Amino acid sequence: MKKYRCEFCHEWLDQEDYLRHHQEHLKLRPDGQQNEYVTLPPKEREQASLEGIPCIYYHAKCDSYTRMPEEIIRSYLKNPYLYSADMSFCTGCKTHVPCLELVWTETGENMQLYNDRLRAEFSYSQEQSFLKRVWQWLNQSI
Ligand SMILES: [Zn+2]
Ligand SMILES: [Zn+2]
Repeated sequence: MKKYRCEFCHEWLDQEDYLRHHQEHLKLRPDGQQNEYVTLPPKEREQASLEGIPCIYYHAKCDSYTRMPEEIIRSYLKNPYLYSADMSFCTGCKTHVPCLELVWTETGENMQLYNDRLRAEFSYSQEQSFLKRVWQWLNQSI
């Protein structure tokens, strides 16, 4: 039978179990935050030290600070398109708010601008590796 990989816990599941299993992950915790978020499998996450990487953000509207879970940071550093909703959970509002309203306390950078910057860098490196492959292929065929 075809197996599906859960994007939350990365377990392999049969098709019939997959939906129910998925629903469990999407249940909201009492504080309104989703049980878990989609992440990359541990081995595919960023492995380097997170020193210098911002992890606490501030929401001025409710004057609250929220810490970004490490597994999420390590996932979006590898693929900044993973969380394309551009919303992040605020512990003060107890709901997801636009990244445009959030500021990293460590760097003072707006979270939306930060995301856009990570995505631009990611697209650029994807393009470079594509061009490199084309170049290698051209060289081989001559
Ligand atoms: Zn799962
Ligand atoms: Zn808030």
